[in-house]
Amino acid sequence: MKVLIGGGSGFIGKALTNLLRGKGHEVTIISRKPGPGQITWDDVAFKGLPPCDGVVNLAGENLMNPLRWWNEEFKKDLISSRLNTTKTLVKAMVASDKLPNSWVLVTGVGYYKPSETLEYTEDSEGGDFDFLSQLVTEWEAAGRLPEDQAKSVRQVVIRSGIVLGKDGGAMKQMIWPFWLGLGGILGTGHQPFPWIHVADMAGIILHCLEPKYDVSGILNGVAPATDTNAVFTHALGTVLRRPTIFPVPSFAIGAIFGNERGSVLLQGQKVIPRRTLESGYIYKYPELQTALKNIVS
Ligand code: NDP
Repeated sequence: MKVLIGGGSGFIGKALTNLLRGKGHEVTIISRKPGPGQITWDDVAFKGLPPCDGVVNLAGENLMNPLRWWNEEFKKDLISSRLNTTKTLVKAMVASDKLPNSWVLVTGVGYYKPSETLEYTEDSEGGDFDFLSQLVTEWEAAGRLPEDQAKSVRQVVIRSGIVLGKDGGAMKQMIWPFWLGLGGILGTGHQPFPWIHVADMAGIILHCLEPKYDVSGILNGVAPATDTNAVFTHALGTVLRRPTIFPVPSFAIGAIFGNERGSVLLQGQKVIPRRTLESGYIYKYPELQTALKNIVS
């Protein structure tokens, strides 16, 4: 397969690129910068879609970027980096003579309203209660192909949980305090912690790209195990053999990340990957302990 990956230079994109290339597939990355093996967003906008069997979009300004203050300018960047790249791909697909077989957009479980008790499947409602949920609604709408093209392309949206892996994402920021024995629960620790190993996120994307599984629609990109922040904190401390006795109070998270963004850490959703499992995807890391052991090994 020839696969075009928007934002393929990032954390999930690197894992996906390695997985695809390892299986003999051809990858072209779309980036803001030109470089070997990659094209730019302007190339796609002005020259059109290069020949490909599958298209994936993983581009987006990092929500938890600790170097950016939570303000209107940052929020605008979060929106435009996701919507503009997604719209560029949709426009290029619509204008293309040869449509790809599959189109996979990765969004987030921020679509579902945080709750310590409710369980969410792909059929659950959401997308209309705060900045992040509205962003996901607009992002998924931007990714929808018009009816004519939608008939011949399998469209998949993967609503991702917190992606855990060695070389990036949330773990990159969390691991050092834990190594130093300063890791602790965030807030009450009772909030659900919807997570997925990066190998499974890449695996689910590949599963969606492969015609034989015939996947379309929404999939939840989380592990089947539903854990809380306290369970995650204890598990990470255990695999690192470090104490986790210092809880991080809510006000400290709010002071560092801003209250609206901090809510991603202090609240969570219990997300069930029902359609992902029904689609036949077999998780490499369904349980937290084995996922964390692999990541810190
Ligand atoms: P990264 O933070 O690694 O970023 C992916 C790529 O996006 C970057 O390599 C960069 O590519 C491009 N990018 C960054 N900022 C901008 C910008 N302002 N405008 C255009 N492009 C930009 O993301 P991940 O791999 O962690 O995540 C991929 C997608 O999955 C994102 O959309 C993210 O929101 C979503 N997601 C991720 C989760 C996670 O835990 N990691 C959880 C839930 C959803 P380049 O520099 O080459 O242009």
